[in-house]
Amino acid sequence: MVCIDSLWLPYTQMAAAPAPLPVVAASGVRLRLADGRELIDGISSWWTMCHGYGHPHIRQAVAAQLEALPHVMFAGLVHEPALKLARRLAALLPGHLERVFFSESGSVAVEVALKMAVQYWQNRGENRCKFVAFKDGYHGDTLGALSVTDPGCGFHDALAGYRVPQLFAGLPRDATSRAALDELLSQPGIAAAIVEPRVQGAGGMRFHDAATLQAIRAACDAHGVLMICDEIMTGFGRTGSLFASPPEAVPDILCLSKALTGGTLPLAATVATDRVFAAFCSERAEDAFMHGPTFMANPLACAAANASLDLFETEPRLQQVTAIEAQLQRELEPCRGLPGVVDVRAIGAIGVVQLDRPVAASLRPAFVERGVWLRPFGDIVYLAPPFVIDAADLRTLTTAVCEVVAASATQAPCEISTP
Ligand SMILES: *Cc1c(COP(=O)(O)O)cnc(C)c1O
Repeated sequence: MVCIDSLWLPYTQMAAAPAPLPVVAASGVRLRLADGRELIDGISSWWTMCHGYGHPHIRQAVAAQLEALPHVMFAGLVHEPALKLARRLAALLPGHLERVFFSESGSVAVEVALKMAVQYWQNRGENRCKFVAFKDGYHGDTLGALSVTDPGCGFHDALAGYRVPQLFAGLPRDATSRAALDELLSQPGIAAAIVEPRVQGAGGMRFHDAATLQAIRAACDAHGVLMICDEIMTGFGRTGSLFASPPEAVPDILCLSKALTGGTLPLAATVATDRVFAAFCSERAEDAFMHGPTFMANPLACAAANASLDLFETEPRLQQVTAIEAQLQRELEPCRGLPGVVDVRAIGAIGVVQLDRPVAASLRPAFVERGVWLRPFGDIVYLAPPFVIDAADLRTLTTAVCEVVAASATQAPCEISTP
């Protein structure tokens, strides 16, 4: 048994925590545990590891960068890996998303986006400090990001009184909710609306269509409010296209992280349109954006991200995601008839079996027993495998889900609701 006496683990009641599993290596879609067991990773290390573990192209790029320049401060100095990555992201992203601000985690990318939105208005002489966010949305664990996360997601019960000002809306899927969103956005002092496009991840892997995003874009335009898309989970192919934001609903500010480096190193980006950027360029020093993470644009992380983008160009990643979606749909469908199952759905490389009660976390040990690594949470059991997974390994994952869900009728509810 591993001794974790000096560690404080994420989302964990430490007094009652089951011992975490020690991992010693990983390759492709498999984790190797200290006791020699292997687990197929069905959730890509929190949705990051899109090319599988240890892809040689990324390893080589990071190793070469390690020799040349592992890190350098990013104020007054700049380097080719960051320049190249920023140019590539701007070229790949839809619309006029052109200015890339790097940071080192998704939550910080969201903080940067929120600060950018507030200061955008301030630089234009308007005081707007409120945000509109959506039911079941999740945007990170730092205080600003938490503030625009739906309290119903269970991430911040203890911090309920400590938030930047925000208003929550239902996603505008029909005339009633569109009118409600319109009403909210017409209130004074709103800087931006923030949404996860197509899939709300940590809030329960809930899907919505492009028309819903178009409705948000149209409502933001009608009220002159900025739109922020949090593509930290959906970016880089997870929903079947490179980005989930459709061309008809391009945000003013977009956040990226998780799969940006192919899961290899921590890196995030907040990308602004030329219009947002223009509000920070003036004769006045105080119009500058005052943010600068110490490890901003770390060269190793940028090299990994550039190598990851190479792989989207040279290997058939999006076709693999299309094939994964079809297989998930086919092989999870039988769960629909099981007792306690209320929905089965898939989009891109995300497959979900939703239960009628929050028992999912109690099912975790059963998956390890079957040689797979999954972290069901709340009322969902979900798969988000690396895109390089082959049909046989994916079959092992879907079979495990069907078997464990079938046996779950007797499980007691479970307190843990986080991913
Ligand atoms: C994971 C996630 C974040 C937070 O990213 P961290 O790197 O964990 O800080 C924010 N938004 C979404 C949609 C995410 O999935």
